[in-house]
Amino acid sequence: MLNFVLSSEQKMLRDLAHDFAENEIKPVAEHYDQTHEYPWPVIKKALENGLLSVNVPEQYGGPGMGVLEECILNEELAWGCSGIQTALMLNSLAVLPIKIAGSEAQKQKYLTQIAAGRMAAYCVTEPGAGSDVAGLATYAERKGDTYLLNGVKTWITNGPVADLFVVFAKTDRQERYRGISAFIVEREWGVKTGQPLPKMGQHASWTCEVFFENVEVPAENRLGPEGTGFLTAMKVFDGSRPPVAAAAVGVARRAFEEATTYARTRTAYGQPIIALQGVSFMLADMAMNIEAGRLLARQSAWLLDNGYDNTMPAAYAKAFCADMVMKATTDAVQVFGGYGYSREYPVEKLMRDAKIYQIYEGTSQVMRHIIARELAR
Ligand SMILES: Cc1cc2nc3c(=O)[nH]c(=O)nc-3n(C[C@H](O)[C@H](O)[C@H](O)COP(=O)(O)OP(=O)(O)OC[C@H]3O[C@@H](n4cnc5c(N)ncnc54)[C@H](O)[C@@H]3O)c2cc1C
Repeated sequence: MLNFVLSSEQKMLRDLAHDFAENEIKPVAEHYDQTHEYPWPVIKKALENGLLSVNVPEQYGGPGMGVLEECILNEELAWGCSGIQTALMLNSLAVLPIKIAGSEAQKQKYLTQIAAGRMAAYCVTEPGAGSDVAGLATYAERKGDTYLLNGVKTWITNGPVADLFVVFAKTDRQERYRGISAFIVEREWGVKTGQPLPKMGQHASWTCEVFFENVEVPAENRLGPEGTGFLTAMKVFDGSRPPVAAAAVGVARRAFEEATTYARTRTAYGQPIIALQGVSFMLADMAMNIEAGRLLARQSAWLLDNGYDNTMPAAYAKAFCADMVMKATTDAVQVFGGYGYSREYPVEKLMRDAKIYQIYEGTSQVMRHIIARELAR
């Protein structure tokens, strides 16, 4: 049975998320964009409303949302501010490897802590290795019942505020893909984090370098057998890319709404500029591409929720929505003319915030590489 209509529970979630975005995120979005502060008050309210760590299963104290529900949620939150939404979403990213590869004891211990509000970060990228995950250099050396962890991660979202770090490191430096293992690491074991890195957009979401210098990690904190970390990281992408694509849809939708409202009221040659075909066609393109992006994101999420392989559909969704939001926000600035380039109007922020979708969770080129690789098989 094919059905494109949200269930009553999903509609309730969408409405709850939209109200939260309208009342708690949108009014403070500009403040956090300008001050670069961390949005702690919003994080706390999200926790109270069951909108943080949303993919933690109910048995560990979380709301137990599926990937499709995460898409519905993220579209609304990112409509309010994608920087705040990214800060809110990071716990869910760190939860994924624990859900995928964690033992029952690890889930009981750490998922319950994350559900209760402990902040977590997901650490793959290094100064010398991003897209090439197998090229990472952080090393975990086995010493009896512990591992000694050494290395540097970078661009770690929520790194400055996290208590828990899911870290991917080599346990066999002779191997590439098969040499990687994943670990849950607690800050108090000696993890050091840098200052938030200055960046183009999504200022409310902090990213930083994370340093491991002889950090002792109990062997019981390794996620799955040695050498399975790369596979875990790839499975994480299947679950994380649909909600990231959906967040891009939320930013594009906001840009479309702002641009449409402006085009209806701004006049030129004695008529609203929406009457000019050059302007209205930009809006029409936005409307249809937003719809297409939403369908791709939700389809890729539904497939995973229902036990199907979604690697290709998730790559379609991530690549399409990332490029789509970049075009939609650039065109929204265009519709506003000179005012679009001004900090006093909202679309300039949306364009800065949009760019990251073509980079994190796999770049737009890497998405095409995944798709092309399958085509060449
Ligand atoms: C704001 C922000 C937040 C982030 N949050 C996190 C986080 O929480 N955790 C984490 O682990 N990482 C995080 N990242 C890192 C992010 O995932 C990487 O930046 C991304 O994967 C790209 O890696 P790179 O920056 O090393 O670029 P590179 O991999 O060096 O890529 C450089 C260029 O080469 C291209 N390229 C690379 N490989 C291929 C290929 N096979 N085919 C074609 N072109 C290719 C890329 O598309 C890009 O254009 C974040 C990054 C940013 C900017």
